[in-house]
Amino acid sequence: MSYAACIMPGPRQALTIREYPEPAVEPGAALLHTMYSEVCGTDVHLHHGRLDVPFPIIPGHVSVGTVAAARGTLRDADGEVIREGDVVTFLDVHETCNACYHCLVAQQPTRCPSRRVYGITYSATDGLLGGWAQAIWMKPGVKMVRLPNDLEPETFIGGGCGLVTALHAVDIAAIRLGESVAVLGVGPVGQSIIALAALSGAGEVIGVGAPEDRLEFARRMGATRTLGLDLTSAERLADIRAATRGRGVDVVIEASGSPDAVSQALDMVRDGGRVVICGHYTDNGAVEIHPHWQINRKHVEIHGCWGSQYHHFHRAVQLATRFGGRVPWREMVSGRYDLEHAADALAAVESRQAIKAIIVP
Ligand SMILES: [Zn+2]
Ligand SMILES: [Zn+2]
Repeated sequence: MSYAACIMPGPRQALTIREYPEPAVEPGAALLHTMYSEVCGTDVHLHHGRLDVPFPIIPGHVSVGTVAAARGTLRDADGEVIREGDVVTFLDVHETCNACYHCLVAQQPTRCPSRRVYGITYSATDGLLGGWAQAIWMKPGVKMVRLPNDLEPETFIGGGCGLVTALHAVDIAAIRLGESVAVLGVGPVGQSIIALAALSGAGEVIGVGAPEDRLEFARRMGATRTLGLDLTSAERLADIRAATRGRGVDVVIEASGSPDAVSQALDMVRDGGRVVICGHYTDNGAVEIHPHWQINRKHVEIHGCWGSQYHHFHRAVQLATRFGGRVPWREMVSGRYDLEHAADALAAVESRQAIKAIIVP
């Protein structure tokens, strides 16, 4: 049996299809038959050549598949055996070394230099190591998470990478019951941040972004108020101040990728509040910050948020299972594409025509 995969040969180059022979599954490894793989904003950045990766690659870092082969006894984090036929997702990050300064001393494995990521930092010449393919090779040690029977795979992939990233950002923000939260950006990450902030017991949850249909979706995800980019940044700030007795919100989470949003976040947050920056996965340029007024005098906490760890994936599956009936993650998927039409999926995400597109190989 052979498997088709979509190849991104290099920056701005047309996607192609390559056939792979049935891979040899070594002891400790597994093979998934792909059900869904996500098209993420990162894939657009990859195609624009804005990340340093070993082209050609098979894109697709967050995926869901059925275990078609498992060699040896593979167990999940709960100690349960992963069996053929199970529907799983997996932590796309692999090969963090647990031996370097970042892993052991700083305990920041997302900064481990040995870290490899499915669909991003593995080359297509290394095998089926990306999700835009009919099968994905789970190398030994890849952490799989079984999707419970009562979690529809469509719900999990609807949240997908954005849900996992959002969970990390919301953890860092440490939202307390009743706190006000502004979320800058209403793409897949911002939408899930809004939902998780609401589930965390935030009071006012203000979604800021465009276009209007995304703001409408943000209200369905749990935003109590939305502000569009048709307003000037001064008007949005005035609105937020008016809603918080002039103080500003307790927490701002930036998920837009716009440099200006970082400065706006510092203006919107109250004195002594927290700002989390998670939208700048690629270099979108510089922005002017006034350290006295925006940081020092405000006594503000600023956190960066990069990548995810196993526990974010594990908990994202549990959250999607428990709250997928209430939070419309499933409906965030606005386009489904087969491998031959992956370029259309990229274009739909790039043009913001689709909040979320998925590949159904
Ligand atoms: Zn390491
Ligand atoms: Zn992603």
